[in-house]
Amino acid sequence: MKVPVVVIGAGACGLTAALAAKDAGAEVLVLERDASPSGSTSLSSGFIPAAGTRYQRAAGIDDSPELFAADLMRKNHGEADPRIVDALCRSIGPTLEWLDDRHGIRFEVLQGFTYPGHSRLRMHAVAEKTGEALMAALLRASADLDILTSARVTDVSHRSVRYERPDGTSDEVEYEALVLACSGFGGNKEMVWRYLPEIADALYFGHAGNQGDAVRWGTALGAQAMDMTAYQGHGSVAAPHGILVTWALMTEGGIQVNESGERFSNEHLGYSEQCLPVLRQPGGVAWCIYDERLHQLGMTFPDYRDAQAAGAVKMNPVFPRLNETLKEVRAYASGGQDPFGRDFSKQPLLTPPYYAIKVTGALFHTQGGLAVDESARVLPLRNVFAGGGAARGVSGAHVWGYLSGNGLLSAVGLGRIAGESAARYATS
Ligand SMILES: Cc1cc2nc3c(=O)[nH]c(=O)nc-3n(C[C@H](O)[C@H](O)[C@H](O)COP(=O)(O)OP(=O)(O)OC[C@H]3O[C@@H](n4cnc5c(N)ncnc54)[C@H](O)[C@@H]3O)c2cc1C
Repeated sequence: MKVPVVVIGAGACGLTAALAAKDAGAEVLVLERDASPSGSTSLSSGFIPAAGTRYQRAAGIDDSPELFAADLMRKNHGEADPRIVDALCRSIGPTLEWLDDRHGIRFEVLQGFTYPGHSRLRMHAVAEKTGEALMAALLRASADLDILTSARVTDVSHRSVRYERPDGTSDEVEYEALVLACSGFGGNKEMVWRYLPEIADALYFGHAGNQGDAVRWGTALGAQAMDMTAYQGHGSVAAPHGILVTWALMTEGGIQVNESGERFSNEHLGYSEQCLPVLRQPGGVAWCIYDERLHQLGMTFPDYRDAQAAGAVKMNPVFPRLNETLKEVRAYASGGQDPFGRDFSKQPLLTPPYYAIKVTGALFHTQGGLAVDESARVLPLRNVFAGGGAARGVSGAHVWGYLSGNGLLSAVGLGRIAGESAARYATS
């Protein structure tokens, strides 16, 4: 079998790439290892950052790709490739509008809370505000695409790929252009130990099928993997329930304490890097402390409602030093200096009754991958393209470089660029 464009992986990156390649006039085949495509995309919150969109304009939000790029580079301390950052910040808005106009995926801009490091409200999501709904919308839009499920790719050469079926049979397909959209290596314990030992013992909260195949194949073909020590962590997964607790509780005024009721970090640096201080607390857990106002905000998030239904949300928590901690926070809000450097003057003070959720730190998604250029071409190869978790991300080389939304930014943004580039190569 020979197909002009082959895409490996049917998550946000693969489906966006396939839609873009088809729109550009190429015949496409998507190979997906799972029987039913889901990927980390389904597990995610589905929030995609984009600047200068018509959704923002309609909501009166003044933003630009330049401002977005500056926020991104500030968060990763200038470690990411500025050309990729620029290309993504410029193209992601038009990409969301293309998915809406051409493929019927309706986006809205989320309001009511900001994420650390973003200077504007720029998170976009489908109406349900879940990754599952985003994935369902992408699959609906892909109804006319050829997607071969239960087809795990096992080998990749310069001209063909081999895939295996669950019954052990295998087949080969030749390609002109290949898009690697099979994500990162979070599900591969050996690679996580090698590149990310600091988080290797923690819960992995992403898709088990992310086995690092793209990096393995790409480097065997002569490509370079970069920023392999970068990852998206999270400091707020309900324990033991395993439900993501929205970081909006922290950005809008909540605090995290350990079992003694003491704060241990600046919760406003970012949820990604917060995984490590949380894991360093006794038992590897912390408690998010907040109030009725924030509980109501939380209830606008499907994950939080799940946490509430599962009994994770507790009221009137009692910890040895919690009262003193809350008193200290009040003092920081009225001019005192928080030893961890957080500015408490911007959000309303917490007021009783207090709420609490026990959380732990987790690994969500790896950020290192194959180095690509602005056309998503895997360097120095000619006909192989990559995006999403398969490609080097825009988070630099550390856990603190992850600006919220960098994951889907790369999956959807580089996905479209990769699909268009692959189609151009295959049809030229
Ligand atoms: C809990 C959680 C919340 C998150 N929330 C957000 C958020 O709100 N915003 C954000 O930007 N990011 C978020 N992320 C990160 C985001 O989910 C990922 O960055 C993004 O989904 C990656 O998309 P992808 O298409 O590259 O990979 P995936 O969605 O994982 O898709 C990869 C696909 O490739 C398939 N595959 C793998 N290997 C093979 C093979 N050998 N052969 C065939 N198929 C293969 C897999 O089965 C999978 O379907 C979150 C992550 C988690 C875990």
